[in-house]
Amino acid sequence: MARGASRDPLPGSRLWTMPTFRAPRGTRDLLPDERVVFDRLRRTATTLTTRYGYRPIETPMFEQAAVFERGVGEVTDIVEKELFRIAPRTEDSEAWALRPEPTAGIVRAYVQHGMQTWPQPVKLTMTGPMFRYDRPQAGRYRQFWQFDVEAIGDAGPAIDAEIIELGHRFYTEVGVTGVEVLVNSIGDPACRPAYIAALTDHYRGHAAELPSTELDRLERNALRLLDSKDPAMAALNATAPRTTDHLCEACAAHFASVKAHLVALDVPFRVEPGLVRGLDYYTRTAFEFYVAGREGQQQALGGGGRYDGLVALLGGKPTPGIGFGLGLDRVALVLAEQGGGAAVHAETGPLAVVVGADPDDTVSRLRVATNLRAAGLRVRADLARRRLGRQLEAAGRDGAHFAVILGDELEAGQVQMRDLLAGTQRLVPIGDLARELARAEAGHKHG
Ligand code: AMP
Repeated sequence: MARGASRDPLPGSRLWTMPTFRAPRGTRDLLPDERVVFDRLRRTATTLTTRYGYRPIETPMFEQAAVFERGVGEVTDIVEKELFRIAPRTEDSEAWALRPEPTAGIVRAYVQHGMQTWPQPVKLTMTGPMFRYDRPQAGRYRQFWQFDVEAIGDAGPAIDAEIIELGHRFYTEVGVTGVEVLVNSIGDPACRPAYIAALTDHYRGHAAELPSTELDRLERNALRLLDSKDPAMAALNATAPRTTDHLCEACAAHFASVKAHLVALDVPFRVEPGLVRGLDYYTRTAFEFYVAGREGQQQALGGGGRYDGLVALLGGKPTPGIGFGLGLDRVALVLAEQGGGAAVHAETGPLAVVVGADPDDTVSRLRVATNLRAAGLRVRADLARRRLGRQLEAAGRDGAHFAVILGDELEAGQVQMRDLLAGTQRLVPIGDLARELARAEAGHKHG
């Protein structure tokens, strides 16, 4: 640092410690360590869905608001309270909204692109951010990530179990332990009206105890009350009639078969009659994933269900479907709690840093690093014109395993390869360097 220079780049810059701008409430930046975890989750999702025959799709992050209003349902928290609506720019422009969940958009795409003429079922997967204008709290964000799969065109019940097993395997493969599946059947248009009538009677009998928002919803959709997040509803919901006692014969047979398939696949599950899910479009099978013993609000790691009416609701010919959305933010949280996600830095940090005795010779450092990168290695070149000691310190802070030191031996075609973890060092011919580094890394990983 030049003599007399202040550590502040500008006088008064200490004001900069109070940032002017922050990420919007309920959103967060995924800093590199966390972003790497998300990448790993996404990679697992991709390899797993490929194994199960799903193909990737990407729909826009916003849609006509009507796709969600009609698809998800008008009388749902997601549409009533949580939809991020985009203000129309002109009077005649369409009303749009950011996607609060992926299924409605994917089914819209299925109908729009005539996928009912493809071999059925059409099995699609997508991973990306979703948006809900909810009150932010631990594990609940306004922008969050979901890994989603949809199988459209198969009435089940075997595929219901296949999808649940796939979700369960995802948690196992990313390293979350103790995940349990809660399953339920919420009936279909044949048996649900009678069930909703029984449910409505139950709540009417307790009208005086209902919070006003729930009372308001009661006549429009009593199922929503069963799914209410209001703590005042817990006792009333515990004594409510159960869907599983009101299933028609076809729905009961379907549910029995889903359970039999789950048993055959060794998926740990529990029937939870209170599980109805927050969206209108579900029929029959509904499920959620939790870490066993942690089944509270904001703790569902993922959920899904069958939506046999949705394709028709969005203008297609009646076609059954089933899918799930797994919340990656929550998976990352649980992984951190369970001590997973370790060794993440080792996957993405530099294997080696190229440093040099001559602070000004950035050409040699960059050239050696470039050759190593071309050979497929993760390498940083120290491009600061600073003393070798400082360069080595920085390499240590980077978490690099090796430093490649360019010194006088370079003229004879040799460099020092220093193992920063072991504290050892040896001369290596420059032509052998890539091979030596790769071999040392492989040995380290397996040793
Ligand atoms: P849902 O369709 O509401 O059941 O959402 C599926 C999964 O996405 C949930 O089980 C959560 O893991 C995750 N999820 C839903 N909403 C949020 C949110 N606001 N913040 C973080 N994760 C969420």
